[in-house]
Amino acid sequence: MNCDRLAAKVRDGGRLAPAEALELYLHAPTSLLGALADEVRARKHPDGVVSYIIDRNVNYTNVCVARCNFCAFYRPVGSNEGYVLGFDEIFRKIDETIALGGGQLLLQGGHNPDLPLDWYEDLFRAVKQRYPAFRLHALSPPEVIHLSRLSRLTVAEVIDRLVAAGLDSIPGGGAEILVDRVRKLLNCYSKATADEWLDVMRHAHRAGLRTTATMMYGTVETAEERMEHLFRLRDLQDETGGFTAFIAWSYQPEHTELGGAEATGVDYLRTLATARLVLDNFDNLQASWVTQGGKVGQLSLAFGANDMGSVMIEENVVRAAGAAYCMDEIEIVRNVENAGFIPKRRNMHYELLGDPIFRERNVPRMLELAVARADGDTSRPPEIVRYAARSAAEKKARLTGH
Ligand code: SF4
Repeated sequence: MNCDRLAAKVRDGGRLAPAEALELYLHAPTSLLGALADEVRARKHPDGVVSYIIDRNVNYTNVCVARCNFCAFYRPVGSNEGYVLGFDEIFRKIDETIALGGGQLLLQGGHNPDLPLDWYEDLFRAVKQRYPAFRLHALSPPEVIHLSRLSRLTVAEVIDRLVAAGLDSIPGGGAEILVDRVRKLLNCYSKATADEWLDVMRHAHRAGLRTTATMMYGTVETAEERMEHLFRLRDLQDETGGFTAFIAWSYQPEHTELGGAEATGVDYLRTLATARLVLDNFDNLQASWVTQGGKVGQLSLAFGANDMGSVMIEENVVRAAGAAYCMDEIEIVRNVENAGFIPKRRNMHYELLGDPIFRERNVPRMLELAVARADGDTSRPPEIVRYAARSAAEKKARLTGH
């Protein structure tokens, strides 16, 4: 296969087959891949706008029974480093997010057996009651599956209940690589098979929710499997049209059981550019500055990305695995403008909300991302006793008070 012929096919608006995408990913010069991805990006976004969202990435618990071997964030049930955020702590985080111009939480967490479905419903209702316009972009597909198993309800029923309580959209986390061979090796097959992950998104789209899609690459997958992931997403998008955006990030190995080395910046840019070429039915591709840093994040805008993701405000998962990049709105806008684009704030539906908020009013600088909880804070949320304890560790903690 010839890369020039494939480049001509992309330029003519042709759709790549898996073997063609693999050929470009493996053998096209990086400059050609970038140029092709940039052309496709410019076709879809001819106005030169690069969007971003001001929201906060909150992890409501780090207690998890899934135990994925690439994850440095989780703590097992009963660990004295395990936490669950209280409703009041989450309200405080929402207040801080609103002060920075944000209107949404990206809310995800571990699979904690002591948080039943009604804990989520009560939390969502309480948030919507206090902050009616605030959006909840919450619970990745494996968390929905976990709740379906705990509650003995179907995935569709769980989604309906969460939507009734205030869920607005679903983040595309937990996809890793949507190939079961890889998922078995990463110990994330039991939390969700590839089909199960896609099926949650199918149900969510049918229920009228928009969702994102992600890929965590650079663990044990082959290049063919990386492509298979992209094509499975493209197929579902053909079927439902429910994905708003695609986000790729590289595996962060520090403090994980799996170990290994992080993929390089060039591999990130080639993967991103290939995704832009394959995912011809996705409008938006995000730059993952939180794993790649601001400089590669900025370069992503020349390799197919049209969105700088989230200002984020808080981050716990990637930091636990060794990456701690921070960009506040001023820094994101500086990078976007320096790359020759027009920065605009957006919401989760990619509707543009306006110019940078710091140009409209004073916003405090944010020089490092917040964490879920201060070190050493082992407090237990008061409302937790309203929900049935399931694990022996939690039952004992309630008896002894700690
Ligand atoms: S990646 Fe998510 S599901 Fe897997 S162990 Fe970490 S917190 Fe649990």
